[in-house]
Amino acid sequence: MELYDYMGAIHLHSSHSSDGRVPVGDIVQSADENGLDFLMLTDHFTLGARRSGKEGWHGGVLLIVGQEISPRFNHYLAFAIDEELIGDEGDTESRPQDYIDRVGQLGGIGFIAHPDHEGAKMFHVKHFPWKDWSVSGYTGMGVWDFMTDWQATLRGIPSALTGYLFPAHVLKGPREITLKRWDDLNKERRVVGIGELDNHDTPRKIGGITIGFFPFKRAFRFIRTHLLLDAPLKGEAQGDMKALLKALEQGRAYIAMEYFREARGFSLTLSDAEREVTMGDEFALKEEAVLRVMAPETGKIRIIKDGDQCAEAVGREITYTVSQRGVYRAEVYVKIWGKYRPWIFSNPVYVR
Ligand SMILES: [Zn+2]
Ligand SMILES: [Zn+2]
Repeated sequence: MELYDYMGAIHLHSSHSSDGRVPVGDIVQSADENGLDFLMLTDHFTLGARRSGKEGWHGGVLLIVGQEISPRFNHYLAFAIDEELIGDEGDTESRPQDYIDRVGQLGGIGFIAHPDHEGAKMFHVKHFPWKDWSVSGYTGMGVWDFMTDWQATLRGIPSALTGYLFPAHVLKGPREITLKRWDDLNKERRVVGIGELDNHDTPRKIGGITIGFFPFKRAFRFIRTHLLLDAPLKGEAQGDMKALLKALEQGRAYIAMEYFREARGFSLTLSDAEREVTMGDEFALKEEAVLRVMAPETGKIRIIKDGDQCAEAVGREITYTVSQRGVYRAEVYVKIWGKYRPWIFSNPVYVR
């Protein structure tokens, strides 16, 4: 099957956020310099960037403006709606099911943001986890969030310094607890996994010098989400945004940390004699089908079924015979300086 792979960043904050400082134009330029195709901007409780006419194509980058509904806990990323959901960042009263439902009623899609964020106590970074797992009706959840992963490494001044200078080297991948949640939820219903950056370029004073966490030009090299489309984008903003958001809603997506290696070329297909599907798709199993995962270069490829590993191989490709129903996804680790590092996490295929 021929699919068109578009690479972008989801969840970032511009100067339209109370805690952001970088104008949208500069963010878009940094994305362009990194070869990103799209950005999904999520300022806190505002569509300000859209109101100021910034949504759409900027050179090779398509800017899609969503919003982050961010009371004290239970942050939610909403896209494809025209209404701003107004709220207060200290609020502990609002019920997440209410804003999940509201986004749905408005025809939008929504994602649970950084569900297992812990912050960094030592550096006064508050924790912003998702607390209410009784909710339903959301499209998906953040599986690998750059800030969750990176901040977890800040255990003291030396580790903070290493982390600041070499962020890609300290990232550990999606948290185990998050992957387990995701796998468990997927057994019951479709939950699309996304990669998040949650970058603000927050200025912090360290030893008298103010540094930003992180300049977007750097941040855009870390965690990206790839979307797979049936047809190429046309250069027409409204239609193109729709196509990307539809792929996202369908889970035709994989997450990649691309500081060391680009991930484009990764594929996952499931086929029998009659049909072929890819991540995000449903597949009606007759007897057997072949799951094939290909990486753009050699790595350790793992296939996960319903949360448990069912196959592993080192190479550029793995095939696995599927004879049981279940939810199958893939992970790829790339060896950098003798150590396997988390690289690619696919959305699952749903074998019914
Ligand atoms: Zn948040
Ligand atoms: Zn955020």
